Amino acid sequence: MANIGYIQVVRHCNHFCGFCSNPTTPYSHTFESMKVLVDDFVERGYFGVILTGGEPSLHPELPKICQYASDAGLHVRMITNGTRMANEKFARQMAEAGLKIVHVSIYSVIEAVEDELRGTPGTLPIALEALDNAAKYGIDVNMNCVINKLNADHLDLNIRYFIKHHPYIRHFVWNNLDPSMGRAEVNQDQFTPRLADFELSLTRACRLLERSGRTFRVEKVPLCYMTDFAWASTETRKIVKSEERIVHFLDDKQTVRQQEWGHKYAEVCEQCSLRSICGGVFDRGEAYDPAELAPVFVSRDAIVEKILNDPNDPSFGKLTLDEWKQRFDGPPAPSRHDLDIPPENMRDTTLRVGAVTDKSRKLYEHKRRKEGEKAKRSGVSLENTSLVERALRVEE
Ligand code: SF4
Repeated sequence: MANIGYIQVVRHCNHFCGFCSNPTTPYSHTFESMKVLVDDFVERGYFGVILTGGEPSLHPELPKICQYASDAGLHVRMITNGTRMANEKFARQMAEAGLKIVHVSIYSVIEAVEDELRGTPGTLPIALEALDNAAKYGIDVNMNCVINKLNADHLDLNIRYFIKHHPYIRHFVWNNLDPSMGRAEVNQDQFTPRLADFELSLTRACRLLERSGRTFRVEKVPLCYMTDFAWASTETRKIVKSEERIVHFLDDKQTVRQQEWGHKYAEVCEQCSLRSICGGVFDRGEAYDPAELAPVFVSRDAIVEKILNDPNDPSFGKLTLDEWKQRFDGPPAPSRHDLDIPPENMRDTTLRVGAVTDKSRKLYEHKRRKEGEKAKRSGVSLENTSLVERALRVEE
């Protein structure tokens, strides 16, 4: 329906989060290499693109690629830690380049917690300034937050703060920590929450937002931990709307086209009324336990109806509940094999994502040295780089 793709613009960052799942690599993008990826999204009829990283605003040609994607008709968003947006001139430049939404990432409004999670002191006031600057120049401000062990008990406190001090933020996104990649994988004990750790504060936070007329999404949280707000689950919405997501990783994974939204299920899930629209428990990284799941017995169709009739969703009004049920509960659609369509016509992407250059390799080596020092100071482990080193050897 309304697909949105991701381009990792850079992979370095000026923060050092202990659970970063996309840390520094030796790959880099030029305007030309990003342009090809934007053109592909346009050709595929994608609704929008999210520029992400690393910290995307560290790419010198970010305004230029933003302008290009916007002129090509894509709805352009950016996920940022806000450092450069805190500069008014940069915020204005991005607004003029067509940036529609900025997702500023803040984990906790308790400064000491934010400092610890960022591995960098003093980031919170800067990110808060970025919010005000973006709003001043007409960019819609969304809040992004990774749920982790250190903020699991005060997600609602964060929301109360934003409603009071930054009332123009109308949309919030929570991502439960992905423990399968980067530094998150090697620091699981320090940062990965149990599902029960955040159940209460997430429910309170969702209630506060709903009562205040704001919208929100929650990713990688099974529906039994957010049953009252199941319609806000990213996986559930993608399952219901049959959406896909292409992510252009600036590393050796290159392009991932995600069309399946289910993770792992427990035996008890077979009793659950939401099984067919639930993403289950995120299984990569093996940090979450299916034994934490418990079936629920609520109306699946009421949740689907709410998603299909959401006036804020770009897919609004495309299907009635009856039409959806016919498609979703009917016989499975014929596969590529049944239709005898050769793979190349399925438009699986084979685009090259960035490249390793002398300059990007030097930047990578410099960043790794600096991050080694930060890791020692903050007591977290550095990510496993054997795949990166292998990629470097292949490039030689
Ligand atoms: S019991 Fe299983 S299917 Fe049901 S909501 Fe929980 S994870 Fe989803």
